[in-house]
Amino acid sequence: MTATLINGRAMGNEIRAELREEIKRYTQERGQAPGLVIVRVGGDAASGVYSKAILRIAEDIGVTARLEQLPALTSSDELRSLLLHLNADAATQGIIVQMPLPGHLSQKMVADTIAPEKDIDGISPQSAGNLFLGVPSFLPSTAAAVVEILERMHVPLNGKRVVIIGRSNVVGKPLSLMLLQKHATVTICHSHTKNLSELARQADVLVAAVGRARMVTAEMVRPGATVIDVGINALPEGGITGDVDMDSVSTVAGLLTPTPGGVGPLTNVMLLKQCVQAAWLQAGKEMHSPVEA
Ligand code: NAP
Repeated sequence: MTATLINGRAMGNEIRAELREEIKRYTQERGQAPGLVIVRVGGDAASGVYSKAILRIAEDIGVTARLEQLPALTSSDELRSLLLHLNADAATQGIIVQMPLPGHLSQKMVADTIAPEKDIDGISPQSAGNLFLGVPSFLPSTAAAVVEILERMHVPLNGKRVVIIGRSNVVGKPLSLMLLQKHATVTICHSHTKNLSELARQADVLVAAVGRARMVTAEMVRPGATVIDVGINALPEGGITGDVDMDSVSTVAGLLTPTPGGVGPLTNVMLLKQCVQAAWLQAGKEMHSPVEA
C-alpha cells in the first residue's frame, strides 16, 4: 500500500478562503475587523518566526493584528497590566502570548489573566474546563488542527480506535478529549507506556506528538491506518522532520500527514479561525466549536 499524503498547505488555503468571507461579513456588520494582539516577551527565535507567520496570515485574511514586543526583563506586574489592558480593549478580540516566556515569568499567571472570551489558543483554565466538560470552548490550536484535518478528510472516528503518543497540555491531552467527544476510543501513550508498538498497531488513527525524529516506524502502524504527524524536529543537517518515519510508514498507512506540509500549516490558521469565533462571540453571536460531535 502507498499512503495518500494529506496536503496541509492546500487545506490551510481552503480555510483561509472561508475565513476571508466570514471576516468580510463580520467587518460589514460590526464596522471594524476582528483584532488580534500577539504578546512576545524577549527574543526567543522560534517564537519570532511563529509571530511573523501569524501576522502574515492575519493580513492575508483581513484580521487586524499587531505584535506587542516586550523586553526580556519585563516584570510579571508589567505583563499582567498589559494583558488586563488588552482584556478591556474593544478593538482586541483575541490575545495570544508567545511561549516560551523568560524564566522569571509564569505561564500560569498568563493563563489565569487572559480574559476567557479572548483566549483564542485555549490556554485558560476556563477553556480547559469547558473542553473537559464537552461544551464549546477555545482549543489549543495544534490539537484543533488535527481534528480539522481528520474532519476535512472524512476520517471516521465514531467507535474507532485512536492512539495518541504524547500527553502534553497543548497537544496530546486536549486532543484526547476532543476525539473522545467524537466517540472514538482513545488511548494516550507517553514515555512510561509499556508495549508502545503493540498499542500503536491497534490504532485506526495514530497521532504522534512526541518530538522524537522518525520514532514511528512501519512496524507500529496497522495497514491502512490514518497517521497524523504533529512532531517538528530540527535535523542536524538542516531542515525539519516529523515524529513519523515517512519512508517506511508511507508503505503501510492509508492516509498520512507529511512533515513539513501537514499539521504545521494548519495550526496558525486554526488560531485565526478561533479569533474570528471570539469576535462573533463578543458580538453576542453563538460560538460553533470544532469539537461538536
Ligand atoms: P512535549 O510537551 O515535550 O510532550 C511530548 C510528549 O511525548 C510527552 O507526553 C512525553 O511523555 C512523550 N514522549 C517522550 N518520549 C516518548 C517516548 N519515547 N515514547 C512515548 N512517548 C514519549 O511536546 P509537545 O509540546 O506536545 O510537542 C510534541 C511535538 O509536536 C514536538 O515535536 C513539537 O515541536 C511539535 N509541535 C508541533 C506543532 C505544529 O504546529 N505542528 C505545534 C506544537 C508542537 P511524558 O509526558 O511521559 O514526558
